[in-house]
Amino acid sequence: MPSSHPLPSPSDPHHGHHCHGLDVRPDWVPENAGAEFTTRVSQGVQPAIAVRHGGGAKRRQLSLDDYFAGVRAGDLSVLARAITLIESNAPAHQELAQTLLTRLLPHTGGAMRVGITGIPGAGKSTFIECLGTRLCESGKKVAVLAVDPSSSVHGGSVLGDKVRMEKLSRHPRAFIRPSPSGGSLGGVARKSREAMLVCEAAGFDTLLIETVGVGQNEVTVRSMVDCFFVMLIAGAGDEMQGIKKGIIELADLVVINKADGENRPRAMAAQADMKRVLHYLHPATPGWETPALLGSAVTGDGVDDIWKSVEGFFAHCRAGGFLRERRQVQAVEWLHALVNEALRSRFYNSPAVKADLHHIEFAVAEGKLPAVAAAQQLLASANFGD
Ligand code: GDP
Repeated sequence: MPSSHPLPSPSDPHHGHHCHGLDVRPDWVPENAGAEFTTRVSQGVQPAIAVRHGGGAKRRQLSLDDYFAGVRAGDLSVLARAITLIESNAPAHQELAQTLLTRLLPHTGGAMRVGITGIPGAGKSTFIECLGTRLCESGKKVAVLAVDPSSSVHGGSVLGDKVRMEKLSRHPRAFIRPSPSGGSLGGVARKSREAMLVCEAAGFDTLLIETVGVGQNEVTVRSMVDCFFVMLIAGAGDEMQGIKKGIIELADLVVINKADGENRPRAMAAQADMKRVLHYLHPATPGWETPALLGSAVTGDGVDDIWKSVEGFFAHCRAGGFLRERRQVQAVEWLHALVNEALRSRFYNSPAVKADLHHIEFAVAEGKLPAVAAAQQLLASANFGD
């Protein structure tokens, strides 16, 4: 089975350039954008959990048993450290992390995994704060994870470093983790997927996985969640919100946020348009007609109905056996994605490829060497081909 989301090559000049730092607006924000795009990108803000549990003093090393027992007991400090372990690229950490994951695996799978995407400024964090707080108050344990590959490009991220969800982050039944900075989207996604499993083993029953809608991110997050919803805002333009790029086809739920005040009529018009579009689309989940719902993360209007719809979706999937099936397919796809990624990395890191890639690229660009022959030559020199 081929990987559904090829990763950019390390020599790709556009590799990961989603975010342009502090002084320049991200390239998905229109030049003349209004207040709805007031995404704050700030550097140097520590995630709440690190503030709470980090510290100057050197911490005691945890053994495998410590990690396992702490996670299973729902200890948030150990959970945070287990995720840090998973995110580490050091070989010794990776080995310990994989052993831990294997031990935790029988205790995973118990959460509703919900993905939320939308352009910066759509209101995702405000919405998650509102929804997450309500869910925690109703007795749920909510973990919020972010998948944002741009965080590794310039050191500042769009999702991870924003000062966000302050109320929810203080709730004892909530756990919020910013995006790992892993380089490629594949690297970030692997870490988030494993973090998701650890959160499940720690007893979280609701996982909210947030991503910035900039293209491949949505497809990747879709492949790790049960229910995927797209958050739109009226007036931001179809092109920009990925509506024309097939993102809506992936959605189990479409939410038009900011349906409040003077904006409500525009949101209602957008909802009517969206309903017409959805009516003609093949549903992302068999037998489930993707609804378009109105919400306001600020007033809280519609948030309960949106969650009821998510619950309805899960009931539908459980009854039809789709949930289990989707997770099985996702796990196998993930396996292939991991193999693909390992092969890529072995290929591009092999000394022969590193030495030859540049001039072979040049020869191909100049029309002096056919691409097929070039690929064969590189694969052979990396000992990948015949
Ligand atoms: P994100 O980038 O998608 O996480 O968006 P934020 O949650 O940071 O919200 C961006 C801006 O929109 C902030 O100024 C929010 O206060 C505002 N906002 C978010 N949700 C709503 C809403 O439902 N109604 C209104 N009027 N403003 C909202």
